[in-house]
Amino acid sequence: MKSSLLITGATVLTVNSSDEVIENGAVLIEGSRIADIGPTDILEARYPNVEKLDAAGHAVLPGLVNLHLHSGLIRGTAEDLPVFEWLAKHVDPKHRALTEEIAEAAAKLCYTEALLSGTTCVMDMYRYMHRCADAAERLGIRATLAPYVVDKPGMDYFETLDKNVRLVEERHNTADGRIQVWFALEHLTYCTEDAYRRAAALADKYDTGIHTHGEESWEMARKLKQETGLWPVELFFDRGILGPRTVLAHCVWLEDPEIDLLVKTGTSVAHCPVSNLKLASGIAPVHELLQKGVTVGIGTDGVKENNNLDMLEELKFVPLLQKARLLDASVVTAERALRMATIDGAKALGRDKEIGSLEIGKQADLIVVDYRKPHLTPFLSGKYNNIVSNLVYSASGADVRHTFIAGRSIVRDRVLLTDNSEAIRLQAQEAAEKLFVLREPYIPV
Ligand SMILES: [Zn+2]
Repeated sequence: MKSSLLITGATVLTVNSSDEVIENGAVLIEGSRIADIGPTDILEARYPNVEKLDAAGHAVLPGLVNLHLHSGLIRGTAEDLPVFEWLAKHVDPKHRALTEEIAEAAAKLCYTEALLSGTTCVMDMYRYMHRCADAAERLGIRATLAPYVVDKPGMDYFETLDKNVRLVEERHNTADGRIQVWFALEHLTYCTEDAYRRAAALADKYDTGIHTHGEESWEMARKLKQETGLWPVELFFDRGILGPRTVLAHCVWLEDPEIDLLVKTGTSVAHCPVSNLKLASGIAPVHELLQKGVTVGIGTDGVKENNNLDMLEELKFVPLLQKARLLDASVVTAERALRMATIDGAKALGRDKEIGSLEIGKQADLIVVDYRKPHLTPFLSGKYNNIVSNLVYSASGADVRHTFIAGRSIVRDRVLLTDNSEAIRLQAQEAAEKLFVLREPYIPV
């Protein structure tokens, strides 16, 4: 018999097509799926013998989808530099030194941080991703793995397309579909034209997606335009990778013809506001993208450029930046931001039939956020309902109390149930210290 759990007494933010909110609502989890949703009194009468989880004073919402992150361990050590100098001084030397064991310790740490702060699904671009798949499988997170593939000469310490093929063949659609594998390319200045064309053909052959970095730096966009006659998104189009199963991270600088290409091809964007601020990349034209119907999800980027993976913190920046950029307080509402962090991220990953909203029949990927805190008070329903606004503008990942993925209880009362989070932290500490020693010879003088 399937295990069942009835979450009761919560404000349920369904993020369905009409953004329905159910006050004093309940959600029935049966096995891996959502079996029923509705008012608590009706569901309690309908399912009198089911185990209950009281969630009065809490909101229940779909698990958050982090559409662009890099697992990693160099948090807080690569500060105050523009993106290309930062890559050369800190990040590339790290890639040269990285080992499989260190990569797995990083993935475990980052997935643990994600799960504890309400993220149930990640798109992770990293290295040695068989090990990341092992970590995701064990911890219970839903992950789309996108290895850092680079093929420019002299950079053979990155992943290769051949390795990416092996990862797709061995791990795509494993762990009951929780783990998926996409083809992924680092950046336009790191990959040859041939790599894009091959990745497009391979994604087609294996029926999977493509993830890469869109432009972050205005200078680099201009340089590419001078060298090739095309803007970055035009280059991607020319190389055949745009389409409904492609996600471009960042896209900070977009000319009108580039936005038109995103619309025309159905390509999605992973908006990473904190990373764009910290690396002084700029502010992406998210409002315009949304107005034109581009699917835009939200990513934290890695701990080296954020410096955390807290999607609820990230969420606050999305509307704030657009309001300030356009001097218009009406653009990008809290409801819109919540959709971006859930159903839109799921759509970008091609998973919106299964996750991203609370609807009967979907996978039970959901989080329970505790509002019984000074910074989340008052908790109001009816005319002055403030639950979504407080989620976007006042909450943080530390307010997430329970996390469920595919119906499985992954975090209960802020404790990770699938592994020992303290052992993971200690292992990551040790791995980071080792990584800095191994990296030392590669740091440019
Ligand atoms: Zn990135």
